[in-house]
Amino acid sequence: MSLRLHNNLTRRIEAFAPLDPACPTLYVCGPTVYNYVHIGNARGPVVFGVLADLLRRRHGALKYARNITDVDDKINAAAAEQGVPIATITDRFAAAYREDMAALGVAPPDVEPEATGHIAQIIAMIEALVASGNAYAAEGHVLFSVASFPGYGKLSRRDPEEMLAGARVDVAPYKRDPGDFVLWKPSTPELPGWDSPWGRGRPGWHIECSAMAAAHLGETIDIHAGGVDLQFPHHENEIAQSECAHGGRTFARFWLHNGMLNFGGAKMSKSLGNIEKIHDLVRAHPPEALRYALLSAHYRQPLDWSPALIEQSVRTLDRLYGTLRDLADIDATPMIPDAIESALDDDLNTPQALAEIAAIAAAARKAASDDERRRLKSQLLGAGLALGLLQQAPADWFGRGASNDDDARIQALIDERAAAKQARDFARADAIRDQLAAEAIVLEDTPQGVRWKRGS
Ligand SMILES: [Zn+2]
Repeated sequence: MSLRLHNNLTRRIEAFAPLDPACPTLYVCGPTVYNYVHIGNARGPVVFGVLADLLRRRHGALKYARNITDVDDKINAAAAEQGVPIATITDRFAAAYREDMAALGVAPPDVEPEATGHIAQIIAMIEALVASGNAYAAEGHVLFSVASFPGYGKLSRRDPEEMLAGARVDVAPYKRDPGDFVLWKPSTPELPGWDSPWGRGRPGWHIECSAMAAAHLGETIDIHAGGVDLQFPHHENEIAQSECAHGGRTFARFWLHNGMLNFGGAKMSKSLGNIEKIHDLVRAHPPEALRYALLSAHYRQPLDWSPALIEQSVRTLDRLYGTLRDLADIDATPMIPDAIESALDDDLNTPQALAEIAAIAAAARKAASDDERRRLKSQLLGAGLALGLLQQAPADWFGRGASNDDDARIQALIDERAAAKQARDFARADAIRDQLAAEAIVLEDTPQGVRWKRGS
């Protein structure tokens, strides 16, 4: 078994071997906590969580850091609008993020560093960059000088001229070069700020990942991952800062980027807001089905996110849990089949792994002897373990219609049906009506809107 990953730095599939075989290091860019996050933001944590589990299995250990951006202009704006300190906003939405991730079966990283907890390290790194001539102070700001780093653009493979042309609109007067980016910026008295050699201010976004990766994982990390939308400028800037601050040492040996989710155009995303936020989705659908849906396409490809994809994932899990229910009389210890390890070794080929799971379940349904059933049940549970699926008791999966939480799920479905009708998506509205009917939920139209009750 040997793991091969698509390294976006070289644009090639490469054999992965960590610098320290006893403890690989992994850094994933985390959320900026000012609102509930979009399901698209869960794709990275889900798929790179599968990678984290695999690395722990193979190496016996892993140091995995995923940061929380808790100082940012969007946070400041939300705090000002609600008249509360930024910590009120960031504590609330960091907690919501952790809850959402837990609901999707994403295990917490080993470290979850917060930017505001690393201001000293950030300032020290900026000072090093100023001392090495890679950064300069101007009008209370400190900027990274892109021209000082010949490697700039090596990850995103952008032509420096092209990058500068893109940055030329509204160039701040204190920038020497239009592509230079902010490491530190001044804060007015009403904004959050920290004392620094350049006056009271706050860090730019990019520097926090460089400083926190170094603080927790060292100067060179094995794998840096995140959404492909972060490749430029965020990850390009992280490389520039880290490699210049650390005497040219490689910042990250492997770069992995996950593709984005497509929402089928503006109609769906506007009228059906509750198919986007994890917070709403996990109340409207079994969270495990959302996880399954996120793993259903290869992580580097875009994924078309739709109600149909969620429904199909629910049906697939119904079939798999149905198989496990039929095997309830058999005791089996989970064992991850080689076919699953091979699929994941192939640049985290989760669609292939899910196809293997379906094949194991189909074989289990046909198995004649108890030995055969035991072997296949152990494979099915093991395969599920590798992907973070099939770990509930079948009764819990099928019993999801009975809990109090379920009231919220039903209400969310009813809301989604109303939105679908309004958007003239009658196929979706009918599908929800049928789903509710199948669960014996009776709908009543009243002047106050739709009421519902459980039928018998
Ligand atoms: Zn980052």
